[in-house]
Amino acid sequence: MIENKKMPKSLYAKSANELLGAVGLEKSFQGKQLYKWLNSGVVDFNEMTNLPLHVRDTLITSMGSPLSSKVIETQEDGTDATKLAIELFDGLIVEAVILSDENGRKTACLSSQVGCAMGCAFCRTGTMGLMRNLTEYEIVEQFIHIIQIAPETSHIVFMGMGEPLHNRENVFKAIEHLHHPDGLNISLRRMTMSTCGLIPGILALAELNIPIRLAVSLTTADENQRDLLMPINRRYGLDELKKALLHYQNIMKKRFTLEYVMLSDENMSEYHAKKLAQFVRNLDVIVNLIPYNSAAELSFRRPNTKEILKFTRLLNSLGVPYTKRMSKGQSINGACGQLATQYEED
Ligand code: SF4
Repeated sequence: MIENKKMPKSLYAKSANELLGAVGLEKSFQGKQLYKWLNSGVVDFNEMTNLPLHVRDTLITSMGSPLSSKVIETQEDGTDATKLAIELFDGLIVEAVILSDENGRKTACLSSQVGCAMGCAFCRTGTMGLMRNLTEYEIVEQFIHIIQIAPETSHIVFMGMGEPLHNRENVFKAIEHLHHPDGLNISLRRMTMSTCGLIPGILALAELNIPIRLAVSLTTADENQRDLLMPINRRYGLDELKKALLHYQNIMKKRFTLEYVMLSDENMSEYHAKKLAQFVRNLDVIVNLIPYNSAAELSFRRPNTKEILKFTRLLNSLGVPYTKRMSKGQSINGACGQLATQYEED
């Protein structure tokens, strides 16, 4: 192994071959060995026992850790959600969440950017603005941190901080690494890409033609209201969005999801239900109803059970297919639209 070689910031999101060159290993099979350790969740070079001792020692001395990031805080709440605050190499912080469902299935909710440029009015991350995109290895590393706590994590949603399709090059590369059969081997069918409706990204995803799930945040099917709630709508309005979704559907032949954050007194009237029914016509979708999670700095309110029942009855009468998600993680600000770093000042 080459001593005094300049080491990369991270050993993640690299193939066995790339690792070989990146750290200057002598034997090609050592690249494969290192790759296997890294992707089985081992983050301590000391534990990589089939690598020669001098190789491990050099890696420890020159890098310390194969990761460029570290977990600085872990918060749990009683609803089976665990939020990790992860410090990046430049001191910025992102959040990742582990969600458990009633069947014990664990899902990693990963961030794609530090902050977000999309400015959705109901989202805490939107209030931060965009600080920077995450690299592909920073995205993969979030998953590595998560499997230290929950090794059985089998699903991934790109629904953390940021708009994943606004950083699609790095997100697509991260997906490739998370999915690689010799590596972390997460099935593409167990991954979900969430977007606020960034049309070039939706079209690029269709072109990629991989069986990842798509979830589009709609929130209202009224043009003027969507302009206000989701500024992306001023650039790509509802007609254009629908056209892109029909195109996606034609290529993928796969049902997708429309996320509908229910905001009390905002988007849950008969008028809104009718607009939604009109939008979903000809789309093979299921609407995912998410009661808004109150955030101190935003003025929207969470709907009560009566309001939700009234809205779902309207959707039933209009034949809109929907599911209702009671979000986890509210008490730790780890629920949808609530991720926003509060650690900058510390
Ligand atoms: S909802 Fe998503 S796209 Fe909108 S501001 Fe929040 S993180 Fe960005």
